[in-house]
Amino acid sequence: MANQYRNYIDGEFVVTAEDPLIEVRNPANGELLAFVPDAGTATVERAVAAATRAQPAWERLPAIQRAQHLRAIATKLRQHKDRLAEIITREQGKVLGLATVEVDFTADYLDYMAEWARRIEGEVIPSDRPGESIFLLRKPIGVTAGILPWNFPFFLIARKLAPALITGNTIVIKPSEETPINAFEFAHLAHEAGLPPGVFNLVSGRGASTGAALSTHPGIGLVSFTGSVATGARIMQAVAPNLTRVNLELGGKAPAIVLADADIELAAKAISDSRVINTGQVCNCAERVYVERRVAEEFTNLLVARMAATRYGDPMADRSVNMGPLVNQAGLDKVSAMVIKARQEGAEVITGGAVADLGQGFHYQPTVLTGCHHDMEIMRKEIFGPVLPIQVVDSLDEAINFANDSDYGLTSSIFTRDLSSAMRACHNLRFGETYVNREHFEAMQGFHAGRRKSGIGGADGKHGLYEYTETHVVYMQHG
Ligand code: NAD
Repeated sequence: MANQYRNYIDGEFVVTAEDPLIEVRNPANGELLAFVPDAGTATVERAVAAATRAQPAWERLPAIQRAQHLRAIATKLRQHKDRLAEIITREQGKVLGLATVEVDFTADYLDYMAEWARRIEGEVIPSDRPGESIFLLRKPIGVTAGILPWNFPFFLIARKLAPALITGNTIVIKPSEETPINAFEFAHLAHEAGLPPGVFNLVSGRGASTGAALSTHPGIGLVSFTGSVATGARIMQAVAPNLTRVNLELGGKAPAIVLADADIELAAKAISDSRVINTGQVCNCAERVYVERRVAEEFTNLLVARMAATRYGDPMADRSVNMGPLVNQAGLDKVSAMVIKARQEGAEVITGGAVADLGQGFHYQPTVLTGCHHDMEIMRKEIFGPVLPIQVVDSLDEAINFANDSDYGLTSSIFTRDLSSAMRACHNLRFGETYVNREHFEAMQGFHAGRRKSGIGGADGKHGLYEYTETHVVYMQHG
């Protein structure tokens, strides 16, 4: 009998018999892994009430003591690293090596945010009036909500929870219904680490039920959401009546520009790795390539060789694969339909181009498409799968124009040995991030933020931390 998980509310794993159950299955082979609750309004209400009760005492606790709680959770995660990585691989489908990196990075992120304890500083502002001091204080917002996607489900818990808690907020987290198990395991470890009741609450369920109840709740001061553009827009509508703050980390359509003077081998390796990692289901990985005509053939050949050599399958059954399945049938159908449409629009499949017939699971062949042009859907819409469309260009300016003409503005990359081309690209690419001569993996001390429909606000570093604070200005007339 598969395990049945319970929501974590007010420091207890509670029975919520009125909530229906959701099955969680392994996307590599369909195995039933667990049942989790689909929390309704009453359960969400309980969680927000617990977070509201816990918040004042948590805020009063010196930040350095809040930091000790984050570090205690990080220690627990490291102690259980191997088990946690296997859970992530089973329910989400990424290879074990990457799942292990995710657990490590999650623990490091908690430690990193803990380091901010002594650095959440206000300001003293000179006054225009005699005998007056002006102080700008940074204060917690109150009760926050974190709504998570499935692609880096474990890390995203820390990306929401750590900045919220270190700044004195409490939080209610809703994991994706595709990948809730790792979040329940996180809650068990946070509980064992001694986190005070109500500071962190976990409610699992679907977007239409749990997600909607959370984002419309008037007691929530900030909804921090990571997921698709469509859901981000829905959340903005849902929060409008309460004017709740939002922090939206949405989709991407990252352009990778390869100039003729680039290290072509490096570019082909970085871009193919970026398309294969997590089966192409990463918001900041290369989603479209613009390559200069002179090196297009050489680059494409190297890229195709790497993509074609990618070993894929069930990552728990065969530890040597480089790529697992897509997360679900809908993801597989979407990737498949986009490649079919690209072919109809004139793209040529050089390798891959079809659903992989492994007998079970949601596997798609690593795919390279050439002959792509700007008007094709595959160059404009997020694919979120191991498919790379290539468009040939004649100049850097042409590539930048195509790159910028997009609804998305999350990340971008350029491969060149020429400093002025790199600098020109960095000045003219209208994206939240640009990688020069590398791909993906943002740093926890950076600032991950999208432009246009890729989001509002951002995460990580000092600027990400401040998203969880409100300012309070005090004017003190002291004569
Ligand atoms: P999704 O939008 O389908 O779901 C994300 C979360 O929102 C889930 O927990 C879901 O249950 C919830 N949800 C759905 N409808 C809701 C509603 N009406 N109200 C409240 N919550 C609701 O996204 P996904 O498929 O889980 O994730 C993939 C997407 O996430 C991709 O577009 C990817 O680019 C994006 N993403 C962005 C970043 C980033 O940092 N910008 C990082 C990872 C993933």
